[in-house]
Amino acid sequence: MSAAVLRIALDTPLRRLFDYLPPARMPAIGQRVRVPFGRRRLIGLVMEHADSSDMPPDRLKHVLEVLDDQPLLDRSALELLRWAADYYHHPIGEVIAAAIPKALRDGAPLVAVQERWVATAKGAEAFARGEPRRAPKQRALLSRLIDHGGAVAADLSVALPGWQDAARSLAKRGWIASCEEPEPLPQSLDSASTTDLASITRRNSPPLAPEQEAAVQSVSEALGRFAAFVLYGITGSGKTEVYLQVVERVLARGQRALVLVPEIGLTPQLVERFQARFTTPLAVLHSALTDQERLQAWRAAFSGAARIVLGTRSAVFAPVPDLGVIVVDEEHDASFKQHEGGFRYSARDLAVVRAQQSGVPIVLGSATPALETLQNVENGRYIRLSLPRRAAQAEPPRVALVDLRTNATQGGLSTPAVQAMERHLAADGQVLVFLNRRGYAPTLLCTACGWVAPCRDCDARLTVHRSASRLRCHHCGADAPLPERCPQCGFAVKPVGQGTERIEEVLAQLFPQVPLVRLDRDVVRKQADMEHAMRRMHSGEARILVGTQMVTKGHHFPNVTLVIVLNADQGLFSTDFRAPERLAQTIVQVAGRAGRGDKPGEVLIQTEFPEHPLLLNLLNEGYDGFARAALAERANTAWPPFSRLAALRDSARTADDALIFLRDARALMPPPRGILMRGPVPAAMAKRAGRYHAQLLLESSDRAALHRFLSAWLPQVEQLKSARRVRWALDVDPLDAF
Ligand code: ADP
Ligand code: ZN
Ligand code: ZN
Repeated sequence: MSAAVLRIALDTPLRRLFDYLPPARMPAIGQRVRVPFGRRRLIGLVMEHADSSDMPPDRLKHVLEVLDDQPLLDRSALELLRWAADYYHHPIGEVIAAAIPKALRDGAPLVAVQERWVATAKGAEAFARGEPRRAPKQRALLSRLIDHGGAVAADLSVALPGWQDAARSLAKRGWIASCEEPEPLPQSLDSASTTDLASITRRNSPPLAPEQEAAVQSVSEALGRFAAFVLYGITGSGKTEVYLQVVERVLARGQRALVLVPEIGLTPQLVERFQARFTTPLAVLHSALTDQERLQAWRAAFSGAARIVLGTRSAVFAPVPDLGVIVVDEEHDASFKQHEGGFRYSARDLAVVRAQQSGVPIVLGSATPALETLQNVENGRYIRLSLPRRAAQAEPPRVALVDLRTNATQGGLSTPAVQAMERHLAADGQVLVFLNRRGYAPTLLCTACGWVAPCRDCDARLTVHRSASRLRCHHCGADAPLPERCPQCGFAVKPVGQGTERIEEVLAQLFPQVPLVRLDRDVVRKQADMEHAMRRMHSGEARILVGTQMVTKGHHFPNVTLVIVLNADQGLFSTDFRAPERLAQTIVQVAGRAGRGDKPGEVLIQTEFPEHPLLLNLLNEGYDGFARAALAERANTAWPPFSRLAALRDSARTADDALIFLRDARALMPPPRGILMRGPVPAAMAKRAGRYHAQLLLESSDRAALHRFLSAWLPQVEQLKSARRVRWALDVDPLDAF
C-alpha cells in the first residue's frame, strides 16, 4: 500500500476532498487522521489514496497523526455515505460527520482502552529487599501488582482507594509502569460469539398465524440477497412477531440485524420485546443518549458484540458487521426524514439503498404504508406481505363519523361521543380521546376588540397553557405570562378552541368519578412519565386517556374499546399535497388502538365534513381504498411518486432577503425541458422564530435529469453573493412541498 497523496474528507461545507501528504505509517481508507487546516487542526477520514495532486507540491501539508489502527468505516459504509452525499447533493465531509458519534469526531479512541499497571523487574527486586520501607501504601500497591501480575486502574480504585499517589512515587523510581490496553467487553456482551439458537433466544416464540408464517418464510428465503418487503399489517396483526422471528433466523446464520424505529421514547415496547426474546446483546442508538452512551453503543455495534442494533434515524449509518437483514418499523413515519439542518436525508430510503448495497433483505413494516412505498409494490420493486387479521383474535373496530354541524357539542365533545363514552365506561371498557393539539386553547381572544395573542416572532398565534398560566408559541418556544385583560382595550380575554389540557378539564366535569390520564409533551417530559401513564392505564386505575400523536404510537391498551377522534378536519383542506395521506395514517393508527384485546372496538370521528371523499373512502374501504384513490389523484396531478421534487429552502432576517437569494438562484441557469421551477414563494408559515422562510421548488418526472441539473446548478448557487445573507439548504424528496 503506497500513495503519494491522501484525499481526506473534512467536516466543512466545501464540496470536495482535501489533499495531504501521508505520514510515515500509511493509513488505510476509512481511518481517521488529524490534519492541519488553516490555523486549526481537524480530524478527517481518509477517502482515497492518489498518485498526485492538483495542488502545487510546496503547498501540500503532511498528515499530523493517524488515530486508529483500523478503519472506522469499512468499504460498504463509505459506499453508502458516498451515495448519500451524491443523492442529497451534500458535502461528503458533513455527511460523514452526521454518520458518526460526536465523541469519535472529537478523537475518542475507536476501541475502549483501560490503564493497566504492572511491577517492573526492578520493582520485584526492590520488593524482595524489603523496599519501599516506611511507606505502607506504596508497599501494599507493589505487593498487589506482583501477586496479581498487574492490575487495572479501575480495580485498584476499589481495592486500594487513593492508590494514585503511591503509584506516582513507585513509577518515579522505575518500580512500576503503566500501559493502555483494550478494555474487555462487558460480561453481558461476551456471550455474543454463539449462534446456537437455544442460547440466543430467551423465550420460545409463539406459533405463527398462517399469514405471519408466510411472511417469515418469504423473508427467510431472501436471506443472502437483496429484496424489499412491505409488511403491511393492521395494528395488532403481529408485525413485531414477524420481525422477531426473521431476526432469530438471521442470528442463527451467524449474522446481525439492524432495526430502525421512528422514536425510541415512543416505542419502548419494541426494545423491550427484543430484549425479552433474545439473550444476545442489543445496541440501542437514539437521540436522547449522552455522547458517551452513544459512543459505547456505537462501539458495541462496531465490534460486532451487539448482534442486534436498534435505533432511530441516524442508526441507518451504524456499523453492523455481517449484516443479515434490515427492519424499518412504521416505515411511513415522518421522523425518518431529517428535515432540518444541512444534510436532509430519508433514513427509510437510505436503508433500502444500504440493503441493496449489502445484498440483504429489508422489511418495511406499517399498518399505513407511505404512498411511495405502495407505488413501489405496484411497480414490482417491493414485495407485499399482508397480515390482514389481528393476532390475538380481536375483531377490527367499527368506525363511524359524527357530524359536528348537526350534533351539539360541549367543550368540543359531541353528544354522541359523550353517550358512547358512558356506554363503554359502564361496560368496563377504557376510552381513548385523541386531539392533535396540546395546551389549553390555540387562541386567546378579546371579544370586545377582536385582538388575538400573536407570537412576535412567528406568523402564528400563542397557545394558552392554563395550569402553567402562560402563553406559549409552539413554533419558536416563546413564553409569556397569561394576561387577564386585553393589552389593547383592557376588556377581559377568553381562550377559544380546544387543546388536550382543556379536554382533560371538560372530561373531568363530565365524568367526575372516572380517573383520567393525559399524554402530551407538556405532561410527559421524560421516559418515566410515559411509563407512569402507561401503568395507570394498564392497571385499569385510569379509564380515560386523552392525548396527542403520542397515543398513536406502538402502545397496546388491550382494554380500550372506544376511540374518539375529536377533530379530523385539520388535514382535509391543507395546501400540502401530503396532508390527506398524513391524516388518513393518523386516523387509522389511532383507530387501531381500539379493541386490541378480546373486546370489539368502536371508533368515532368528529368532523364538520362528513361527506368529504377522503373520510368516506377511508371509512368504506379502509386505508387500502384510500391509498388507491390518493395514488390515482397523485398521478393526475403529477405529484410524487409520479414526479420527483427538490426544494431549495432558505431563511433570512427579512422577507426580501429570503426571496432575493432564491430569485438569484433561479436566474442562474434556465432548467432544461422537463424540469419545472416553481417559485420562489414564502413558506406556508413564512415567519418563524424571527426569520423569514421561503422556497424554490424543482419538479421533474425524470429523476436522473433532475439530479444532473442539481449537480451543475448547486456549485453556482453556493457562489451567489446573496447567499451570504441567508441560511439555505437543499431538500431532496421533501416531505412537504410548501
Ligand atoms: P403489531 O406489531 O402488528 O402491532 P404485534 O406483533 O405487537 O402486532 O402483535 C399484537 C399482539 O398479538 C401482541 O400482544 C403479540 O404478542 C400477539 N401476537 C402476535 N403474534 C402472535 C401469535 N402468532 N400468536 C399469539 N399471539 C401473537
Ligand atoms: Zn381588546
Ligand atoms: Zn413563535
